[in-house]
Amino acid sequence: MQTNYQWLKILSTSLGAAALVGCAGISDAPAQKGQINQRPFGQMKDGTPVTLFTLRNNKGAEAGIINYGGLVIFLKVPDRNGHFDDVVLGYNNLADYIKDSPYFGAMIGRYGNRIAKGKFTLDGKEYTLAINNGPNALHGGLKGFDKVVWEPRVFATLDGPSLELRYTSKDGEEGYPGTLTVKATYTLAEDNALKLEYTATTDKDTVLNLTQHSYFNLAGKGDILNHQVMIPADKFTPVDSTLIPTGELKPIEGTPFDFRAPTAIGARIGQDDEQLKFGGGYDHNWVVNKPTGQLGLMGRVYEPTTGRVLEVFSTEPGLQFYTGNFLDGKLTGKGGWAYQFRNGFCMEAQHYPDSPNQPNFPSVVLKPGKEYRNTIIFKFSVQK
Ligand code: BGC
Repeated sequence: MQTNYQWLKILSTSLGAAALVGCAGISDAPAQKGQINQRPFGQMKDGTPVTLFTLRNNKGAEAGIINYGGLVIFLKVPDRNGHFDDVVLGYNNLADYIKDSPYFGAMIGRYGNRIAKGKFTLDGKEYTLAINNGPNALHGGLKGFDKVVWEPRVFATLDGPSLELRYTSKDGEEGYPGTLTVKATYTLAEDNALKLEYTATTDKDTVLNLTQHSYFNLAGKGDILNHQVMIPADKFTPVDSTLIPTGELKPIEGTPFDFRAPTAIGARIGQDDEQLKFGGGYDHNWVVNKPTGQLGLMGRVYEPTTGRVLEVFSTEPGLQFYTGNFLDGKLTGKGGWAYQFRNGFCMEAQHYPDSPNQPNFPSVVLKPGKEYRNTIIFKFSVQK
């Protein structure tokens, strides 16, 4: 049986001096805001230990995060009757994550989503990435940020318990230029919001698109076709058959991509539509109606049987809404659930796919001396 530590206890005993240093500038929030505990979660082949950090708020919500890949491995939130369920797909052991995971709960970097043919040109130099998705590069390469071990620290904030993960990606890692220093901070607030804050700096011009890849199922079981989705976007970025954007920002009016009013995922997913065929369902980027960099609503999902609501907020300009079209029952996760077609959906707040090759899309270039900042919030509530 593991022990629950109060925050301040963890600061002084579990992580020692490093955690105390990490506390600089952060208020001594009252301990009743929540708790964080930690326990071993296996080890890498080279013996590097991996730790599970459980953030818990006073409402009883829990977020389990491991420092391998920054993976969110469970997220327990109440339904309209106060019953808690785990609303994310994933495994209960490290070996399964290492063996085969379609990015369950993953921290994605350096570049979330696809880069056409794994090539881009920056400052006149062409860079080549590993091809790991049809003819394209996907989600940071063969060993992206989801497959490395991050340096953890825990601390208290005014909002709730926080886990900070740090990673330094070497110049040339996975083909990307520049030494990139990345920090990802996860905070579980009292209003059942899991807040992710990413910052990064580089020593050379580079491209960057960090995101979070949790697969949600707000019922905690079954398919997601009855979940009602709202995405505040007038346009999306249509793709070719390899899911690379054509460059067009296409109005969603009159298409199955119009989610401005809440609509069941399953209502139009089977329509005879070329874009839906390319994605095997929804696997597209929506151009959210707000300025890049401004924190705003990206999407809202309501699950009628449990009343659970997920709202995604971000500073990012786009939302990749993916409906688990590649799940096929071959991966068995927590509780023996064999994840079938469309048993989970992702809402990945991010810059648009293939931005390094698309001059009309918001820039993903990070330069030395500038700080990359990205906030993504998953906020849970209930609707009666
Ligand atoms: C992509 C999908 C992909 C999935 C898992 C999503 O972000 O858009 O096409 O299958 O990640 O790899």
